[in-house]
Amino acid sequence: MRLSKHAMPVRLALLAAAGMLAAAEPTEESRLLAACQTLRQVPLSAPDLRVLADFARTTEQAPDLRSRAMAAYAAAVLLQGNTNTFARAQQVHRTTFPDDAALLPLTAEQYTAACADCGGGGRRAGTACPACLGRGHIFKLSPLVHTHYTALLEDIAARCRDNADFAARFLEASRETRDDARIERLHALTNQFARRPDLAPALALLDDALAKRAARQLAQEEREARQRAEREVAALRTLAEGPDCTRAIRALRDHLAAHPNEPAALDLQALLEELVAKQERQRLLRNVWTALAVLLGLLAAIPVLRFLLVRQHVRKVGPLPGMGRIDKSAFTDPLSLTAEDSRARVKRKTARIPPPDSTGSTD
Ligand SMILES: [Zn+2]
Repeated sequence: MRLSKHAMPVRLALLAAAGMLAAAEPTEESRLLAACQTLRQVPLSAPDLRVLADFARTTEQAPDLRSRAMAAYAAAVLLQGNTNTFARAQQVHRTTFPDDAALLPLTAEQYTAACADCGGGGRRAGTACPACLGRGHIFKLSPLVHTHYTALLEDIAARCRDNADFAARFLEASRETRDDARIERLHALTNQFARRPDLAPALALLDDALAKRAARQLAQEEREARQRAEREVAALRTLAEGPDCTRAIRALRDHLAAHPNEPAALDLQALLEELVAKQERQRLLRNVWTALAVLLGLLAAIPVLRFLLVRQHVRKVGPLPGMGRIDKSAFTDPLSLTAEDSRARVKRKTARIPPPDSTGSTD
């Protein structure tokens, strides 16, 4: 049963009315139950029979119980031998509860017998039979009447107990404040009393409790999802503040792809763009530093290269051209001269070094 929100006040009114009925019924029904229990022991107890009759007349009471009370009362009248009153009561019962004729199936066969004196003819020796007053039959109860009366009393008592049980458990369920426990009670109640015609308030209450629980669970799930999302966003922000830019960008992209419509998506998108720009700046800076390092490396390498290049050049240089034609004996290594040689050379103004044997004679 699905009721709209507008039906809520109506439903509450129904529930309240049902609660009032549930509270009101047991008193009348408990009196009926007590009467039935007494009548089982004392079948013709007058005050208890009056309880049956009163209950049958009270239109506020449950029809099934009223019908049975009326049938039981009629059967009691028959047990007292009042066949005319029984016939009228049976007629009233049939008129008031046309569907319940089977509750009072007693016919004349169950309470009359053919008159033995007149053989059922009603006349004897030309006059009305004194034994049966000319009717041809006499009052004779079948044991079935008592059996049927007892069965009716037991049925009424069982229904009263059932109603009391149902009312008590319904009240208990409606006073239960925890959703789960209330649902459990109402499930058990509506299953056990599935055939009751007055199950609508219990079903409405069950429906209400199920809707409340579903709403509560939904709210709980939403709250958890929101908290989880907040934690994820916080973790992403922490990651974005950390040193690993690439990992943060990847995590942000994955998160945005998975949750494109979450509340923090715009902020995260801005954060992602900021990080991408930062990474780009870092890349440029790195390139500049690399270029600078290469440049410095080159500058440092130049003298080395130059030294290497020059040494290679010197190694290639051979004797100067024409050196082969020079008379090497005409040159003297100045370092091989003695002091006397040097003085002699100054005197003669020559670079030539005189042979060692001629030095003394020339002086
Ligand atoms: Zn007779």
